[in-house]
Amino acid sequence: MILAVSKLKNPSSPADGYRGRFAPSPTGPLHAGSLVAALGSWLDARKNGGKWLLRIEDLDTPRCILGADQLIQSQLLACGLFWDEAPTFQSKHQDRYQKALERLNELKCLYSCTCSRQTITNTLAELGIQTPRNQEMVYPGTCRPSQLESHTSSEISDLKAAWRVALPPNCQIDFEDLALGTQSQNLNQQVGDFILRRSDGLFTYQLAVVVDDAEQGITHIARGEDLLSNTARQIYLQTLLGYTTPHYKHLPLVLDEHGEKLSKQTLATQINTQDQTHSLAELRKAATHLGLGGLPDGERITIAEWLLAATHAWS
Ligand code: GLU
Ligand code: ZN
Repeated sequence: MILAVSKLKNPSSPADGYRGRFAPSPTGPLHAGSLVAALGSWLDARKNGGKWLLRIEDLDTPRCILGADQLIQSQLLACGLFWDEAPTFQSKHQDRYQKALERLNELKCLYSCTCSRQTITNTLAELGIQTPRNQEMVYPGTCRPSQLESHTSSEISDLKAAWRVALPPNCQIDFEDLALGTQSQNLNQQVGDFILRRSDGLFTYQLAVVVDDAEQGITHIARGEDLLSNTARQIYLQTLLGYTTPHYKHLPLVLDEHGEKLSKQTLATQINTQDQTHSLAELRKAATHLGLGGLPDGERITIAEWLLAATHAWS
């Protein structure tokens, strides 16, 4: 099965009403890297006369930090990055995710899995497959039954197991990234059947992001390049669930001095928004990173004026 998204269906065009979003996880304050994603997606929406929504991805509750969502909102406001509709929170959307999972269950493409990371590592080792560090393990299909069937709702919610989606053979996804050009990923070879609901009951990022983007009518997704390798999975879920695939544009990452992506794990420092001057300095750094040149550089400019100039410069 080969899915070439552009041929499969017509993704909605800006004329249908551009709807973009920024979807931070509240695992810490904004840092230079997340500001690049915020600013890039904001500029893209403004340039296209679209809406820009804020969605707090607080699904992985053990990793969320109390108050981080408030802090992120005040940092965005200090940078003049205003959103157009009330912010939404993934923790309040459990029903949607459950419904989507039930839909996939009806399609007979779910199965339960009790493998631990160690079991998967061992199985891959037996198969002579080595996973490079920093790369996800390809699930070898250990728990996949020969015959897929649907399950009862209580089976899905009560069983202490993860639920994976069963991929069809040769599931290759091709899509056009608006920044990076044609992308393609063979999900069987590079990912394997992936998890939609964890054994602790939490819905995964892959499922939640697809359901929320569809529910919120998102037409354009501009986000960090670290998420590029998730996109094919998300497009596959969109086709299963009958959703329209949005346009994707992956933005350059900010790396630290060791060449690692800035993240809360690498203890990236939060952006400084204590006053206008500092906020503007942060925005300027982010703009340079996004490749925007020729922007006004004096001190005597307001954030709103600077953002307007940046919107004109955005392509
Ligand atoms: N919540 C994700 C993150 O902070 C971003 C999800 C997305 O933009 O698709 O990395
Ligand atoms: Zn398993």
